[in-house]
Amino acid sequence: MVAAPRPARRLAAPEPGWTTSADVVVVGSGVAGLTAALRLRRRVGSVLLVTKTVLQSGSTLWAQGGIAAALADTDTPQAHLEDTLTAGAGLCDPEAVRLLVTEGPARVRELVGLGARFDTDPDGGIALTREGGHHADRIAHAGGDATGAEISRALVAALEAVRHDPGIEVIEHALVLDLLTGAPDADGGPGPVCGVSLHVIGEGSRDGVGAALGRAVVLATGGIGQVFLSTTNPQEATGDGTAAALRAGAAVADLEFVQFHPTVLWLGSGARGQQTLISEAVRGEGARLVDASGHRFMPEVHELAELAPRDVVAKAIVRRMAATGADSVFLDARHLGRAFLHRRFPTIAAALAEHGYDLADDLVPVAPAQHYHSGGVLTDVRGRSTLPGLYAVGETACTGVHGANRLASNSLLEGLVFAHRIADDVVDRLDAGELPVTDPVERPGEPALVPAASRVAVQRAATSGPGVIRSEAGLAAAAGALAAVPTDAHARGDVLGAPALAEWETTNLHQVAGALTHVARLRTETRGGHFREDHPQTRDAWRVRQVAALDGDGVLAVRTVPVARPD
Ligand SMILES: Cc1cc2nc3c(=O)[nH]c(=O)nc-3n(C[C@H](O)[C@H](O)[C@H](O)COP(=O)(O)OP(=O)(O)OC[C@H]3O[C@@H](n4cnc5c(N)ncnc54)[C@H](O)[C@@H]3O)c2cc1C
Repeated sequence: MVAAPRPARRLAAPEPGWTTSADVVVVGSGVAGLTAALRLRRRVGSVLLVTKTVLQSGSTLWAQGGIAAALADTDTPQAHLEDTLTAGAGLCDPEAVRLLVTEGPARVRELVGLGARFDTDPDGGIALTREGGHHADRIAHAGGDATGAEISRALVAALEAVRHDPGIEVIEHALVLDLLTGAPDADGGPGPVCGVSLHVIGEGSRDGVGAALGRAVVLATGGIGQVFLSTTNPQEATGDGTAAALRAGAAVADLEFVQFHPTVLWLGSGARGQQTLISEAVRGEGARLVDASGHRFMPEVHELAELAPRDVVAKAIVRRMAATGADSVFLDARHLGRAFLHRRFPTIAAALAEHGYDLADDLVPVAPAQHYHSGGVLTDVRGRSTLPGLYAVGETACTGVHGANRLASNSLLEGLVFAHRIADDVVDRLDAGELPVTDPVERPGEPALVPAASRVAVQRAATSGPGVIRSEAGLAAAAGALAAVPTDAHARGDVLGAPALAEWETTNLHQVAGALTHVARLRTETRGGHFREDHPQTRDAWRVRQVAALDGDGVLAVRTVPVARPD
């Protein structure tokens, strides 16, 4: 019997000293949050967009390779669907994928209409390339390898153009702490979501902890990368949205499916935090993986060789590293030539140069690192979570489009498509008089605050437990290490008086790591991004999703839900 974690239902924080309200509160300003806010604007009375640091932030800014959509005459949404389902290893929600691939091309064209400048082919059309797991050229890219930065630029410019309009308000440096909830339902189940508590580093009346009330809240807080010692994600990716939703009683799903990107620059075992990603597109253009003796090993592992799905490449690299006793393998792009490499991948070339590498001259050491979280807050295809009033979108959501493993470049697309769907659903419901204004009540139980000094202990546990290679022994040890982390820094007076930004984030990391470790332990098979060396087979009995939520006693209860088979 595996003991389940009991994450606290709220963060320890001062009482809100100020209150604001809007019809809809959108949390996060990556592709998902910006798209939702822009589409909601003017269609509802008022939108409040809050974001942890500045508007241009989150993983969106760092996305390199591109955005997948069946834009070519020779491609079809059906072909995109099939590739997505294959990568998802039997756990994708076929309806969610169908919506992604059929609505995706229109959303990308709208982005172009909004001002996003994608790279073009000689005829002036959008240039399309290929990435791992795709059987067609369908990846639109911008600035060579700076797709996310261009998408972010275009969306932020569109927002800046209307920022002073009545009807939309933006608060930067606003860290959302908890979801505010109304009274529990008649059966004692979680109450509706009616806003957020947040800490703002601001001026005048909007400084410190406050409350932002809304008839609907859209969580678009991005990924969980900082749960691990090494990740491609920026520092904002601390799983805040997933943790806050869990505390409020929402269901989360597929948490065990973490994607480790195969080709992240290896800077030694002491490297911490955000590391340099070398996009799949470099392999898409012909770069090869070789081991320490120069042997190219991927053709003997998979028919797509270096362009096999990411989990296949990541596992093959880890196995090769184990077989050769090396800390990394190497990316060999030397045959592609300096002029091409520097023109096509300027961002990567500049990042590598900072560490003394040049793709044109060097074998570049790479190893897998955390990259993407397929799981998150469970939603339906309208973006609705299991709690009334709460929506989730982008990397913090789990729509089911990624299943056990995300197909490359589907996540920016997911943010666009489902943010659009959420905005439409919210508008319909507000027009229909649904989503009533609700007063928040305090959730019961002791609040939690994990000391910032425990952050590395949490990251170490996550990396050695639910890391690239998992086993019962490693996961049990991680669960033990996480259970030993103190969660009462507030009671011990460690952080009295000061804003507890680092502690709030560390508490979120701790809760996400605990839930992730637990469900990874329960899934006794290997599938997609979940690689159990003690259970190396994929088992048909496990063709189910794990959905978790706090029960009435505050224990993380996990149930399995069958997945629809594609038509
Ligand atoms: C290096 C890298 C390369 C990638 N390349 C690609 C690619 O080529 N193609 C692709 O499709 N995907 C790619 N991805 C993945 C993709 O970028 C992300 O999945 C996607 O951008 C997530 O968008 P989002 O809007 O959900 O979250 P994000 O873009 O991460 O934005 C989250 C937002 O929420 C804010 N936030 C977080 N917590 C709080 C809080 N508590 N309170 C208030 N605000 C908060 C953040 O500050 C940020 O503004 C890449 C990711 C990385 C890291």
